[in-house]
Amino acid sequence: MSLYGSASGNIKTINSFQYQNYDCPFCASRIFGRAGSPISCNFCEMHIEKWQIERLRPDIRALLVSKKNLLANNSWDAAAKTVEQIIKLDQSPQMLFAAATFYEAYSNYFWHSVNYNLNGYMEQNSVNREFSWQLLSKSKTLLFEAIKECSAHLKTTRDINLAFVKLLAEAKLSRLFDAKETLKMINSAPDPDPLKDYANMVYLSHLGDSKHAAPYIQRAALTELNAFYYIAMLLAKEKKNDEAKRILLPMLAKTNMPRAMELLFKIEDVERTA
Ligand SMILES: [Zn+2]
Repeated sequence: MSLYGSASGNIKTINSFQYQNYDCPFCASRIFGRAGSPISCNFCEMHIEKWQIERLRPDIRALLVSKKNLLANNSWDAAAKTVEQIIKLDQSPQMLFAAATFYEAYSNYFWHSVNYNLNGYMEQNSVNREFSWQLLSKSKTLLFEAIKECSAHLKTTRDINLAFVKLLAEAKLSRLFDAKETLKMINSAPDPDPLKDYANMVYLSHLGDSKHAAPYIQRAALTELNAFYYIAMLLAKEKKNDEAKRILLPMLAKTNMPRAMELLFKIEDVERTA
């Protein structure tokens, strides 16, 4: 039994998450949750409110569906063009963040396209790696843009949703000093809000502070599948790779969150070289 519950209990909980019959209004990924629960996207991590799904612009909805179909065929380049069209139409921090997550996944895809069987043709591999770095840099630029948008709005309004996007972007960019300030703003909001648990979970997991992260994670894990990524992240930081992998595998059977996939790749790399 660890701070975050037993492995078998966690796997059972992961398997109990069900498709919610709607897709993310920011990236079109399928959403897994438990009935009646507040839900975050299992790909881009954006918090989703019912009205955002109901009021999604038809032109953006069509582009999101088109992107999803392109990705189903691994047509990453065409999907990227669609993402560019979407963020021209909607420059909300959520949409910028979702686009950043797309480029992170695109970068991962190329990074892992390295073919060790090419032997004398390793040039192709270095081209792939170079392209992967460019895509990651694009992803980071979009995260900075999302932070900038949030900061501009937060000067005049205390919108916990925007503060949440800002914190997630800062954590992804490892700007933990800034993230700590943003978290203070989120925690000072008067109403209890599941976003508070999620935000504290993200910040404390990035710090590697499993002791303080545990209560937030335990609460978030009741409703958010993504909580299991943070459990795996903390387990991996504690060098408990086997336990982390046992959580990641059932989670990744439902989602393809880039960070979770990347963590699994890293663990498998360590296994190969051990
Ligand atoms: Zn999403």
